[in-house]
Order: sequence, then structure tokens, then C-alpha cells
Amino acid sequence: AEPSAVAAAPPLPSAATPTTARTLIEALEWHVAHHPERRHLSVLEDDRKIIGELTYGQLALQARRVAAGLVERDIVPGDRVAIMLPTGLDFFTVFFGILYAGATPVPIYPPMRLSQIEDHLQRQAGILRNAGARILVTMPEGLRLAQLLRAQVESLDSIESAASLSAAEDVALPTSRDEKSIALIQYTSGSTGDPKGVVLSHANLLANVRAMGAAIGASSKDVFVSWLPLYHDMGLIGAWLGSLYFAAPLFVMSPLSFLARPANWLWALHRFRATLSASPNFGFELCVAKVDEASLAGLDLSSLRMVANGAEPVSVYTLRRFCEKFRRFGFREEAMAPVYGLAENAVGLAFPPTGRRPVIDRIERDALTHRGLAKPAREADAKAIELAASGQPLPGNDIRIVDEGGRELGERQEGRLEFRGPSATAGYFMNEAKTRELIHNGWLDSGDRAYIANGDVFITGRIKDIIIRAGQHLYPQEIEEAVARIPGIRKGCVAVFGAADPRSGTERVVVLAETAETDPSARAGLETKVQEVTTDISGTIADEIVLAPPRSVPKTSSGKIRRSAAKALYERGAVGGAQQPVWRQFLHL
Ligand code: ATP
Repeated sequence: AEPSAVAAAPPLPSAATPTTARTLIEALEWHVAHHPERRHLSVLEDDRKIIGELTYGQLALQARRVAAGLVERDIVPGDRVAIMLPTGLDFFTVFFGILYAGATPVPIYPPMRLSQIEDHLQRQAGILRNAGARILVTMPEGLRLAQLLRAQVESLDSIESAASLSAAEDVALPTSRDEKSIALIQYTSGSTGDPKGVVLSHANLLANVRAMGAAIGASSKDVFVSWLPLYHDMGLIGAWLGSLYFAAPLFVMSPLSFLARPANWLWALHRFRATLSASPNFGFELCVAKVDEASLAGLDLSSLRMVANGAEPVSVYTLRRFCEKFRRFGFREEAMAPVYGLAENAVGLAFPPTGRRPVIDRIERDALTHRGLAKPAREADAKAIELAASGQPLPGNDIRIVDEGGRELGERQEGRLEFRGPSATAGYFMNEAKTRELIHNGWLDSGDRAYIANGDVFITGRIKDIIIRAGQHLYPQEIEEAVARIPGIRKGCVAVFGAADPRSGTERVVVLAETAETDPSARAGLETKVQEVTTDISGTIADEIVLAPPRSVPKTSSGKIRRSAAKALYERGAVGGAQQPVWRQFLHL
């Protein structure tokens, strides 16, 4: 095996963590006081080349310079400052710079492709207006777009770069900050017109980082390798703030680097002897489907003790193939950890115990879809549904399953998942209506359906995506996955949704699938296959199958299928127009 090229920073002598810190600033300052020279993070260009590094001392110093620039521009505590930056050192220094100025960072995703800027612009303008952002920090390539945004967002006073802010003179920084002040507003994908900004305090973020760390036994002995986007909770809080808190060296690469060559992730895990990492399901799928074995000679993944698999439904099919394929490269099945979380709880909500193999539940299809019961299936039951356990609530967090009337349900009864705990958001920024829908009687509504069995949480689907047809629940995810396996249909590019049928009052099942096939008879053959697979999986027929050209299925910035957007396109008769700048599509995957 190839030797690892760079040794990670040595572990600290004792369990050195800022346990008494009340804010992220205090956590960083604690590290600066104890080991300013310790390397905190490295930015990778690919799987080996380090193009930037920060020690704790450098992060604090550069962040203070940015803060001075913000104060000079009259930013006062409580103001919102948006960050539209790619993965790179500037992101980290600007984020903490905003906190040092007492302001609130609002990360938004950077533009990916200039030809498809319209949708990006509209979404981002909606977010910036809702946040009332006063400054937008971006990179030189983002300046033109930022100017367009400025024209649409009244609150925006100026567009800056990390460099322009850092040029400030020494100025006094505000010091009044407590654990209740807002440390982050995270915008979830939501719809363009009604952005939902999850408000998270310093206390929320620290509580979540501590709970996740306690659940997995994180320490400075760990090494985290991540390609996750920094404008999304798993990369921002799970990978970065978690590593920062526990003084675990972090190696980050841009999602574009991973998507261009998924093996970059695998080789970086190898080279830096990573113990921790994380990815949504599609990242594992890319490694299974797009990485050929010839490029893996010498790969050794045995250092990994936990890779979180969350942020979107975990496919048991992908999980098995990943474990299978990488077993001979030292990957241990116990390291595969399906986890559950959502921005409304900072990031993590349920984790499995470390060192446990994935637990898969096989349940009867009809009992679940007709009666909401997760009944264990007989071995011979070929129609059983398989779900991966997402583990137990993190320490200090509670989860319960309730029916539509809010009554708590029992073991193996499926219903709405509600949660509460120290990292639960106080609500959506400037959106009282949505906040009222989110929180009732001290519990937050996850928007997901789930059941609990043997203490493990099993997520069955998103409420807004489940199709209800004649009393039966259909789970789009499962049909999408099966359809995507048909040769000729593009992987990960299928959306299944329900369209209202005004005559019957029930929902029509629409399967929208991308294919590059143009030959009419081959297309007819594909349609038949899609119908067969749909019927097999769901026991019901698709009312309409739409075969559309590549990049027709809309996705979120994190690569999730936007089913309601797909439905809207379908209902407007606009399916087939190329879709928006999602980074997966950008790279033609
Ligand atoms: P929006 O909610 O507006 O669409 P988003 O998807 O970006 O935005 P996140 O907070 O990043 O919001 O995603 C949380 C959601 O991801 C959960 O509510 C759930 O639907 C899904 N999810 C996360 N982990 C899992 C899991 N292990 N299994 C199934 N679904 C999961």
C-alpha cells in the first residue's frame, strides 16, 4: 500500500476540549490559548495537494481582521452578513470574522454555471431579502452576480471580498455576546418564494456538536476528511465545527473536486488516515458506480471508524454495495453509520452506537403502506421493504412518533416524527407562519414519517413527498431508486410525485425519468420497463410515465430530488427544459 503522504497533527495529551465555552468564539479562543500553533484545517485541491492551511491562531487572527472590516462598514451586533464563497480558506475566516463582529453569518451557495444563473439569482435574492442581509461576501468571480443580487435586495449595502474586508485598520470589536445570540441562519432548500431560514444560537450549535461528539467519542485523535459543501449543515456544522471543537485535524476539498473524481475522496481518506467522514447516500452511490477498481490499487480505508450516511434517505441497496466493494480495501462495515438529522436541529438528531454494523429492518409492504404498521416480514416475502436504522436520539435529545391527532404512537407504529432538545431551533427567521407550523407544545415537527423499533429510528419518508392513493401510502424514494436501476435510465435522475386528479380526488402517480435514448422503439421499451418496475415495487400502476432528456429533473443545491418542483413543472407542461445549477448537474453526472 502507498504510504500516507502527510502525517496528521499529533493528538493532544489529554481530552482537551473547550467544555466551558458558551459561544463558538469562546471555543476558538480556548484553542488559541492552549495551542495556537496547532493545525486546524487544510484545504485540498484533489486527493493530496494542500492549497491552504490554518492553525487555530491564524484562523482567529484573520477572522479578527475581517471583523474589523465589517465594523468599519458599520456592521453592528445582530446584523446579517451573507457568505457566498466556495470551499477555501476565506470561507472559514469570513465566517468567524462575522461572529467576531457580533453579526450573524448566512451561508448561501455559490453560482455554479453562468448560463443557468436565473434560478440561482431568484433563490438567493429571496434568501437575502428574508435575511435582511447588509453585506454579501463573495469571491472575485462572484462579483458580477453579486451586483445583480444587490439590485434586487434593498437591504444590501455592499458587496465585499475577504481581502477587501481584511484591509481595515485596527478597530475595537464588540464583546457582548452570549450563548443565546444567533450564530447562524441556515436556509433549507424550501421554495423560492418562501425561504425558510433556520435560526441557530451559539448554544444550539455547541449543544449539537457536543452531543454528536459524545455519541461517537470524538477527540483530537480523530482526523476528518470532507468534501461536503460548507453552505450545508452536514459540511458546515458536522464536519467543520465538530472538528474545530474537538481539535481533530480537518482536510476539506470542494464538492466539485469530489464530483469530478469521486476517487479523490477515497484517496484523501487513505492518505490522511481519516477516522471520520460523512456523505449523503448519493456520494456512496457515486463511489460504487463511477469509481473503477483499477484506480483503487493500494487503497486502504482501514483507518476509518465512522462515516456518517445521512441528509437524505439511506438506500440499503447502495449501502450494501458500498460495503461489499470496499471491504477488500479495508473498509469495515461497522464504520458505515446511517444517521438522521435536519437543519432544524442544527444537524444531527439520531446516531447509531459506534462500532455497530448497519441494522436493516425488513417489513411487510402492505402493513406499512395501508395501515402504518412496521411488521417484520417473513424471510420468503419478496415484496418486503428494507430500511436502515438511523440509531438513537443523540444525548439530551428526545424523539417521538405521533399520529395526525398528535397522540404518541407505540413501537413499530408509523407516524410523524417530532423532536426536542438543546439544539432545536427557536424558529425560522422572519417567518412566523412557518415557525407556528414547526413548533407546538414544546415539540418540533420534522416533516418526516418514521417508526421506532428496539430503540432505533427508521425514517420512511418525507410527509410532503408521500403520495396518498386510495388510502395507501406510496414512498417515492423507493420507486425512484428501482426505476433508476433500469439500463437506459439515468442514475439518480428520477422523480416520482403525485399530481392531483380533480375528478377522483385521489392522486395520480407520475414517474418522471431522464434518458438520453431517442429511438422511438427503445423509448417504448423503456416505458414498459418503468411501468413494470413501478407496479412491482408499489403494487399500483403509474398513471403517467414521462421520459425526459438529461437534466430535466430539478434538484436542490445538495443534490436531492425536488419533487414538488418536478410536479410544478409537470403541471405547467414545462418538463424537459434543462434544469438549474445544481452542482451534480453542472458536472454532467
Ligand atoms: P428542505 O427541508 O427545505 O427540503 P433540506 O433537505 O436541505 O431542505 P436538511 O435539513 O438538510 O434540509 O435535510 C433534512 C432532511 O433530510 C430530513 O428532514 C429528512 O427528510 C432527510 N434525511 C436526513 N437524514 C435522513 C435519513 N437518515 N433517512 C432519511 N431521510 C433523511
